Amino acid sequence: MSARVANILFLAGFVIYCIIRGVFQTRIGVNEKIDRRQDRADKILLFAVLVSGLLLPVIYIFTPLLSFADYRLPKWTPWIGTAIMILALWLFWKSHADLGKNWSITLEIRRDHELIKNGVYRLVRHPMYASIFLFVLAQGLMLGNWLAGWAGVVSFAMMYLIRMPKEERMMVEHFGDGYREYMEETGRLWPRFRGRAHKAGVEVGKPEAD
Ligand code: SAH
Repeated sequence: MSARVANILFLAGFVIYCIIRGVFQTRIGVNEKIDRRQDRADKILLFAVLVSGLLLPVIYIFTPLLSFADYRLPKWTPWIGTAIMILALWLFWKSHADLGKNWSITLEIRRDHELIKNGVYRLVRHPMYASIFLFVLAQGLMLGNWLAGWAGVVSFAMMYLIRMPKEERMMVEHFGDGYREYMEETGRLWPRFRGRAHKAGVEVGKPEAD
C-alpha cells in the first residue's frame, strides 16, 4: 500500500472514530454526576493523548514539519494497520453502545449509574481502552513517521496505566462486591477464560479441581 493511501485510510478511520464518539456523546445528554475524580494528571494525559492521536497525524499528513522523523514503512504494515483499525472502530462503537449513558470522558459516576456487565463488558472490564490501544497501534502501522505514528501508543499507555487503577478503585467504592465479583470473572483488556470456566463449573455444581 502506498503511503498516500495509508494516510487517507488513517484519516477516514479517524473521522469515523470522531463520529462514533460524537453520536454517543449527544445521546447521553445532561446526566447529573455524583462523583467526579478528574485530577491534574488525568487532564494532562488526556491532552497528551489528543495531541499525539490527532494533532501530530494531521501535522504529519498536511505539512512537512515532522519530516525529520519520517521513515519508510514496509509495504505490508499499513494493510495490517487497516485491519486493526477496523477492529478498533468496531470495538469502540460496541463498547459505547454497551456502556450507554454510563460513559464519561473522565472518571465519573452519574446519578442512576448502572454497573454494565453485558455485551463486550461480559468478557473484559476495559473494552473501550482496548479499542483505543488497537487504534493507536494501527496509527503506528499506517503512518511512516516515528512521532506521528508512535507517540499515540506511548501517551495512551501512560494514561491507561495511571487512570485504570483509579477507575477500578472508584468502581469498587460505588459498587462494592458487585464490582469485585465482576473483576474475578473478567480480564482488563483481554478475556479471562480460566476465571469464567471456573465460575461456570461452580455454578453447575461441578466439584472443584483443586
Ligand atoms: N474503562 C471502561 C470505560 C471507559 S469510560 C472501558 O474501557 O470500556 C469511563 C467511565 O466509564 C468511568 O468514569 C466509569 O464511571 C464508567 N465505567 C467503567 N466501567 C463501567 C462498567 N462496567 N459499568 C458502568 N460504568 C462503567
